[in-house]
Amino acid sequence: MTDVSNTPTSSTAPAALVSAGSPEAAALVAHPRGAQPDQPGDRSAFGFEVVRRLDPTADGLGRDGVRHGRAGILHTPHGDIQTPAFVPVATQATMKAMLPEQLVDLGAQCTLANAFHLFERPGEDILDEAGGLAKFMNWNGPTFTDSGGFQVMSLGVGFKKTLAMDVTGLKSDDIIAKGKERLAFVDEDGVTFKSPLNGDIHRFSAEISMGIQHKLGADIMFSFDELTTLMNTRSYQEESVERTYRWAKRCVAEHQRLTAERTGKPYQALFGVVQGANYEDLRRHAAQQIASLDFDGVGIGGAIEKRLLGNTCAWICDEMPELRPRHVLGIAAVDDIFAGVENGGDTFDCVAPARTARNGAIYTRDGRWNVLRTALKHDFRPLEEGCDCYTCTHYSRAYLHHLLKSREMSGCTLATIHNERFFVKLLDDIRASIVGGYFDEFRDETLTRFYANGSRG
Ligand SMILES: [Zn+2]
Repeated sequence: MTDVSNTPTSSTAPAALVSAGSPEAAALVAHPRGAQPDQPGDRSAFGFEVVRRLDPTADGLGRDGVRHGRAGILHTPHGDIQTPAFVPVATQATMKAMLPEQLVDLGAQCTLANAFHLFERPGEDILDEAGGLAKFMNWNGPTFTDSGGFQVMSLGVGFKKTLAMDVTGLKSDDIIAKGKERLAFVDEDGVTFKSPLNGDIHRFSAEISMGIQHKLGADIMFSFDELTTLMNTRSYQEESVERTYRWAKRCVAEHQRLTAERTGKPYQALFGVVQGANYEDLRRHAAQQIASLDFDGVGIGGAIEKRLLGNTCAWICDEMPELRPRHVLGIAAVDDIFAGVENGGDTFDCVAPARTARNGAIYTRDGRWNVLRTALKHDFRPLEEGCDCYTCTHYSRAYLHHLLKSREMSGCTLATIHNERFFVKLLDDIRASIVGGYFDEFRDETLTRFYANGSRG
């Protein structure tokens, strides 16, 4: 089953799977699927096919007990992604402390870069000149960029944890972190903000975000949305959902204009982002709005309370055409990944595995623990027995303990390799369990073992 909901299939549609890092993928960086001289990118080079769906259950969270989880294949101009898949975050067109080659070695299929950071430095024109994000960073495979909305809105509250998942209590539309200056202001047309890099005043809007993302050249882009926090009031969430819809319509129009104008490039897919916080009616309403527009996929975004993550995905998937792929933005707790997959998420990105690795936090099947613990100074076992990553097959806990204590960059590299491999493999194993028909058993076994010692993450 291929996605024919938007465009007719064409002879350029991919026949065989092309994985990141393969010689075929390298060839696609030079000649992406569906790119022809003087022609707009061929939309049929992008598509999604379902390989196997999860069976419905009595407590399935979708309508009539449906479970939206599935294994599939996402085709892009720069190669294919077998889903569900973990998407490592290469914020500045690189993952911190890592080479793209190391991401390929650990099995990553794709990466996600940040439109806001690349707009600030080096500027989208440089990536355009380089031939797009994949070519610029020597990544032979599919790429994503986010819209920049998250970073811009985060400046609005002066702190980065706008997606805090356990917020209860006070509601306020004007919350600002203590001692921080408010750096962003939202109006009907867009957002004005002060650059944290140099203090310059910048403007982001639907059109500006699309212009930047088209020049960055990723295979998958996201529409510019207003991010709210769980602290915002219900009436503000309502206003924000409507504003996000108006911005989404502008994003689609500008995306179509740029696709037609920028000939000779591969087609870039655009995902609409669904907001609505914790409210089922708002999430469903927002999902219907986004489903009504000519997007290629959907981003499940915004503030989601942890206990409602599965429900939120199910509400949104209930309202979406099945063949639009679904990306869950910024989730990487192990139980959240399972809830997201079970309820329809196809791709998942998060910076947490890399960020925590640099502080010594190590993810294993038996939970998350810190390699900086004093006792590990004398521990010459690998980080995780049986792990096939480069770090575990070559280095010991004692060595990583030493490197990170000494603040050596190689310590960050080795710890990041292991954590990224953990999440890439987790999603690969989940995919195999869906295809093999043993998802429920695999979920229960994995979660029991991971959280047995009261582990966080
Ligand atoms: Zn490892």
